[in-house]
Amino acid sequence: MPISSKLPHVGTTIFTVMSKLASDCGAINLSQGFPGFDCDPELLELVSKYMKAGYNQYAPMSGIPILRERIAEKTKLVHGVDLDSESEITVVSGATEALYAAVTAVVKKGDEVILFDPAYDSYAPAVELNGGIPVFVPLEMPDFSVNWEKVKAAITDKTRLIMVNTPHNPSGYVWTHKDLDTLADLIQDRDILLVSDEVYEHITFDGRTHLSLLTHPMLRERTFVCGSFGKTFHVTGWKIGYCLAPPKLTEEFRKIHQFLTFSTATPLQYALADYLAEPSRYLTLPDFYQKKRDLFCAGLKATPFEFIPAQGSFFQMVSYAHLSQESDYDLAVRLTKEIGVASIPISVFFSDKKDHKILRFCFAKNDLDLNKALDQLININL
Ligand code: PMP
Ligand code: GLN
Repeated sequence: MPISSKLPHVGTTIFTVMSKLASDCGAINLSQGFPGFDCDPELLELVSKYMKAGYNQYAPMSGIPILRERIAEKTKLVHGVDLDSESEITVVSGATEALYAAVTAVVKKGDEVILFDPAYDSYAPAVELNGGIPVFVPLEMPDFSVNWEKVKAAITDKTRLIMVNTPHNPSGYVWTHKDLDTLADLIQDRDILLVSDEVYEHITFDGRTHLSLLTHPMLRERTFVCGSFGKTFHVTGWKIGYCLAPPKLTEEFRKIHQFLTFSTATPLQYALADYLAEPSRYLTLPDFYQKKRDLFCAGLKATPFEFIPAQGSFFQMVSYAHLSQESDYDLAVRLTKEIGVASIPISVFFSDKKDHKILRFCFAKNDLDLNKALDQLININL
């Protein structure tokens, strides 16, 4: 029986492709964004404790109360914002689920959704599967900041949603107060909702502060904020995160969440609730990753690449446009095979797959691997 694909242009994600190639070639994997080191053993102890104590059945659909309370405490401490843990916080199985559920909750057939280009790979398919129409607004090279005139021009009466990502993957761009204020000015008289992907909320550099859309009173009223414990506590394989949204939006969000996954792994929720009680566990993250970014950028200076140090996230982009016309995909594959270092060609993040001769490296790896990768990158032949 012929099957008509709902996503005819989508293949296996580049993250899977490059991680497999890295593994096949025995290369250092700086492609897919996941930490190359383990989480705190205390967190593992806690999961084990709760599993052994019998916390192994379904959790409540919206998440266990104590974890939702701890997320509320974290939000108050970090952003100074009060959230009601009953009606504004939902625990989900990873930010990917939160993004999908939020889009599904509000996007109907024919609705336009503004996406910044380049964007994380799950946004456009989530919009399309719900009958929405992605409208791409290009970010400004070389820092990938937002051009608000272009956003203004893209807004129509059909715009239902704008998807924000700060700190941004793949560029690391961190939104400023001016970005938040300009967005608020642009949408204040329109029925436009927001999804804000803030999975790198605790990874910002050079004294920059992550400004959650929650911190802006007007934006807060219309935003689903999506977060991920995977990024914050080095456990991307656990797929656990949260969605923060005002009660009416949360109500609609949960209607979708309950039929996507219903609930999220119970022992992980209890363990994370205990673990979150000590704020230093997330407050120390910027310093932890700044050291890695600085180490990686210092080493990059000895390579032919051009780069601007990332403002946030655990990715560093590099350009080779001044040296070669080789496609970014070909170069990423060749570097993996010849030099033994895997990266991501960022053309895959662009709606038109345009090749800007830029690679993305993930520096969430142990220092030994980072140093080894840098030594190998010096030998690059462009
Ligand atoms: N959004 C962005 C920008 C990401 O980089 C990732 C990373 N993996 C996700 C969402 C997904 O997060 P999770 O693994 O919690 O689903
Ligand atoms: N967010 C990760 C990245 O950008 C990948 C996650 C995934 O493989 N889906 O590299």
